[in-house]
Amino acid sequence: MNLVLLFETDFTAADTAVLRGRRFEHLRRILRAGLGDRVKAGLLNGRIGAGEVTGLTDESIQLRLELTAPPPAALPLTLVCALPRPHTLKKVIQAAVAFGAKRIYFIAARKVEKSYWSSPALTEPALREQIFLGLEQGGDTVMPEIGFRRAFKVFAEDELPGIVNGTRGLTAHPAAADVCPSRVSEPVTLCVGPEGGFTDYEVELLAQHGCRPVHLGKRPLRTEFAVCALLGRLF
Ligand code: SAM
Repeated sequence: MNLVLLFETDFTAADTAVLRGRRFEHLRRILRAGLGDRVKAGLLNGRIGAGEVTGLTDESIQLRLELTAPPPAALPLTLVCALPRPHTLKKVIQAAVAFGAKRIYFIAARKVEKSYWSSPALTEPALREQIFLGLEQGGDTVMPEIGFRRAFKVFAEDELPGIVNGTRGLTAHPAAADVCPSRVSEPVTLCVGPEGGFTDYEVELLAQHGCRPVHLGKRPLRTEFAVCALLGRLF
């Protein structure tokens, strides 16, 4: 946790918040915050700054807050990722949000298991939990938008062109002929495939609608590592 993410409901006065549960435990046991210590904090969808520990009990910690700085700039990225297995979905959300992604689509693809769509990991509370962990990791407060699209062809043909417009469109694919660009200066739309990879048809359709296939080397990486490697390289 590199930033204590605060919610309106935490506030007991305009400049004071009291935290219990996971955030309390983390501040006390991992960060070893004690009276007078200052920690980085930020209000969800709001400003960031410092919180001074002004009160402690066995189950709560009180912070006096000065939240004066804007949150960090968003990453100029739209991530389009074939829906991974639930455990991987959590890691992808946390990583992409920590990098600063603010628009993420999880889409269908031929090799996406149908059962993944009914996972509890896709419920609003479960998604928010992973988003909050990503924001805390990246020192950010701004919620990303996450969308789910269960029809690959409809998404690729009807929605993707509008998303790619004004961005550099890329499809990460280990068998691509071209290497992934690095240190790009424009916004990027990045498509990442499922565990078994995109099919040739899918790669072709994504390319037709603006997302050129690129690779990161011939070794296929796990989705969550590929996302990190791609974002690190691109930005
Ligand atoms: N066997 C699959 C294949 O060869 O495409 C591996 C899929 S990998 C677990 C999931 C996704 O991560 C891929 O579809 C691709 O989008 C991305 N990825 C993983 N390794 C990559 C690499 N070396 N180059 C480009 N993309 C990669």
